[in-house]
Formats: sequence, structure tokens, C-alpha cells
Amino acid sequence: MKAHDAMYIGGQWRPAVGQDTIAVVNPADEQVIGHVPAGTAEDVDAAVRAARDAFPGWAATAPAERAARIAALRDVLVARKDEIAETVTAELGAPLGFSQAVHAGVPILVAGSYAELAATYSFEEKVGNSTVFLEPVGVVGAITPWNYPLHQIVAKVAPALAAGCTVVLKPAEDTPLTAQLFAEAVEEAGIPAGVFNLVTGLGPVAGQALAEHEGVDLVSFTGSTAVGKQIGATAGAAVKRVALELGGKSANVILPSADLAKAVNVGVANVMGNSGQTCSAWTRMLVHEDQYDEAVALAAAAVAKYTVGERVGPLVNAKQQARVRGYIEKGVEEGARLVAGGPDAPLDTGYYVAPTVFADVTPDMTIAREEIFGPVVSILKYADEDEALRIANGTVYGLAGAVWAADDAQAVAFARRMDTGQVDINGGRFNPLAPFGGYKQSGVGRELGSHGLSEYLQTKSLQF
Ligand code: NAP
Ligand code: MG
Repeated sequence: MKAHDAMYIGGQWRPAVGQDTIAVVNPADEQVIGHVPAGTAEDVDAAVRAARDAFPGWAATAPAERAARIAALRDVLVARKDEIAETVTAELGAPLGFSQAVHAGVPILVAGSYAELAATYSFEEKVGNSTVFLEPVGVVGAITPWNYPLHQIVAKVAPALAAGCTVVLKPAEDTPLTAQLFAEAVEEAGIPAGVFNLVTGLGPVAGQALAEHEGVDLVSFTGSTAVGKQIGATAGAAVKRVALELGGKSANVILPSADLAKAVNVGVANVMGNSGQTCSAWTRMLVHEDQYDEAVALAAAAVAKYTVGERVGPLVNAKQQARVRGYIEKGVEEGARLVAGGPDAPLDTGYYVAPTVFADVTPDMTIAREEIFGPVVSILKYADEDEALRIANGTVYGLAGAVWAADDAQAVAFARRMDTGQVDINGGRFNPLAPFGGYKQSGVGRELGSHGLSEYLQTKSLQF
């Protein structure tokens, strides 16, 4: 993938208004791999105007035709799977196998699910003497992070297009090449000019201009809670729709009847994948006091298999590396016990952090409350189910979680008491149709499946 020195606006690659660029760095070797334009408010304005112009035509396009174009987009993502995986690995640092299976694989599933939903969804319903039409909201401003660079784009763009909305995307500054590749795929899929537009740039410049633009009807944001609060406030002041997918501090609750070794191993793998840069990662492992020492030993053994530079990639940039190392230092300072890893950088080059396990973590510690966004597992102890629930629910977040027990029914009973949006029962399996999103400060709204599609629709009722 060769970087474009242009924005994709109105179906064309156009030079940016300004001269500034963003250097894209490979976090594994710290080398610059390309430059993209740093868009300004003027570029955002041009993109929003292109999206507005394209909106009436796309909204009036039959759902079956929109479905066909999304299916074509899915097919391009399939054809360019290897290039996608290589691009994500180059700019995010994920091991190639993980990029192939997850970063390239999941967006194909999600795009496919929206091709099907666009064709089958009922955009019209009868309620008594009324007909209710589900109509597209309008122009969507999508702002995405770097941690799952293509998935987060597709999880917004595919349902928006299925609904009949048009989109302006501002991707993360760290992973713009994946976004440019996606724009190429949109073009190749024959999606009409202006339906999807890309403006690369910095969050506080291009991102903010997009969130504030009066031609944007809905802002869909994924990223940090701090920026999400700001975007929510901006959208609220303008009475604009907003969807927020924010941080998490999810619990992996291992009940005493569970298969302890399996629960610990899957739990560690869940955090180590993507170097811990997963908003839904189960970063707090909750273990009964009678099984605590055994679980800690199992976790230390499990994490030893995650060789840095092979199974675990670097963090996305130097700032995230420093931030995560700072959290590890804080954990030690506050009295948690290191059983694997630690704050020292494991390699001289690349933004790596050692896979780390903390035992004797208590719910009041910083590492048990704040999102670390790195390969760090904290193991907490509980005496009974009520205490486990108090700990699980005891953060400002509520994005995901896991419960393990001898039988699903026992795990389900516990999961129903958790203040969180998505729970995996005894390991679970990824479902691209399952609604994903947060309780509490983890966000507003849902992505994926029909729940994700409805975020991009507004209702009109006609009475007869
Ligand atoms: P972030 O700043 O929230 O980035 C998310 C997106 O918002 C990026 O496209 C960013 O652009 C943009 N943005 C930043 N400031 C903005 C503003 N004022 N107005 C509009 N858009 C703006 O997240 P980050 O700095 O990359 O990461 C910081 C922390 O956020 C992480 O350590 C992690 O805890 C959390 N995070 C969570 C998720 C998640 O999936 N929930 C994803 C990523 C990060 P730039 O790329 O130019 O900053
Ligand atoms: Mg940022």
C-alpha cells in the first residue's frame, strides 16, 4: 500500500488545502513508512459538502442496490485481504497472523453482515393506523481510533451506507494508510461519488472540525472517554445525534465451579491479543480466594508463552508505550505484586511493553480502575459471589466482560447482574451480529447487527 498524498472527496483523490503532513511510523522498528496530508477545517468542509450533495441520491437508492454495493465492497476486502493485513501490521505493529485473522478477517464478516441486512431489513412498519418509515439520518461524521483500524471504520461505514446515509471519515492519525486502502476499496466497489469521503488529519483539528460541522447530522465516535465526552457535549449543544464507543475496564469473573486453567488461559490470551490495545479486553481477572494462588501461577505460566516481537507486537506509538509503562510503575508503587513482566522496555527498538501480570491487586488501585490499554492483567481476589459482583461493577466503565462456571446457567445468572454491554459465557464466540457497546461511561449507542443499523435511522410516522 503506497500512501496517497491526497484526500478522497467526492469520488476523487484531491490534494489537501494546506501543506502539512503526518508521518506514519512503523512501531516495531520506529521507521517512517509514509506521509499523508494533515487535513484542516477547509478539507472537512469540502468533504461534508460532497457527502451532502450525494445524500439525496443514495438515500433514494433501493436497499437492494445499496446491499449490492456493500457486497461488492466486501468482495474487494476479500480480494485485498493480504494487503490489508500487511498495512495494519506496518502501521499498528500487530503480528501478521493476528492482522490476517482479526484486522483483515473481521471487517469482511461485518461488511458481509450489512450487505445481508441492507437487503432484508424492514425500513417500513405498520403500527395500528400508522405507517412508520425508517429513514437515513443524513450525513455521518465518523471518527475512529487506531487499535482496530479497519474494523472500526467498517463498523460505522457499512451500517451507515446500508441505512442510506453518506459518510465523512476522520481516521486516527497513527493508522491513516488502512483508511486510504479502505477508500480505494470503496472506489473499486463502485459506490457512487460522495457517498464515502476520507479526510486524514489530527483529532483536535480535522476531528473537531468534523464534529462541529453544521452539515453533519450524526457523529459516530470511537476512542477515549475524555475525547468522547467533549464530542458528546459538542453534539448535544447542536442537537445532533451522537454515538460513542469509549473505554472499558472489563472483568473476567471466574466462579469456583469453572475450569480454572481454561478460564485463566483464555483470559490471558484475551488481554495479550493486539498488545492489550482492545477496549473490550478483560483486564481484571476475578478469582475466588481458595483458588487464588493457583490462578496466579497459571497466569504467570500462560503469559510466559507470549514472546515479545513474535506473539506480542509493540504498542502503537511512543506515547502509548510510556503511558502503559507509567501504569505498571504505578501498580508497583501502590503495592500490587508483579508476577510477570514489569516497566522495563523488553527490546531496544520498537515501542514494546513486557507482557505483565499483577497479583494482589485491590479494587481501589489505579491499575484496577483506569484503562491501561496495554498487555497488563490484574488479578483480584473475592470471597463470595456478591463481592465478585461488587468488584466487577465497581468502575465507571461497562463495556464487556466474561463469566466462567461449570454450567452456562450459573454463568448467565451472574452475567445478568453485571452492569456491562457484552458478556462472553464460558469463552463465547465472536458474533458479528451481536450488539456491541457500553453501559455507564463506556458509551452511548450500539454497533454491529441490526442494533448498529438502527443508529443510522430516524423514524417518520404517517397516520391514516
Ligand atoms: P483519542 O484521542 O480518543 O482518539 C480517537 C480518535 O479521536 C482519533 O481519530 C483522534 O485523532 C480523534 N480525536 C482526538 N481528539 C479529538 C478532538 N478534540 N475532536 C475530535 N476528534 C478527536 O484516543 P488516543 O489518544 O488515540 O488514545 C488514548 C487512550 O484512549 C488510549 O490509551 C485508550 O485508553 C483509549 N482508546 C480507546 C479506544 C476504544 O476503542 N475504546 C480506542 C483508542 C484509544 P488523533 O488520532 O489525531 O488523535
Ligand atoms: Mg489522540
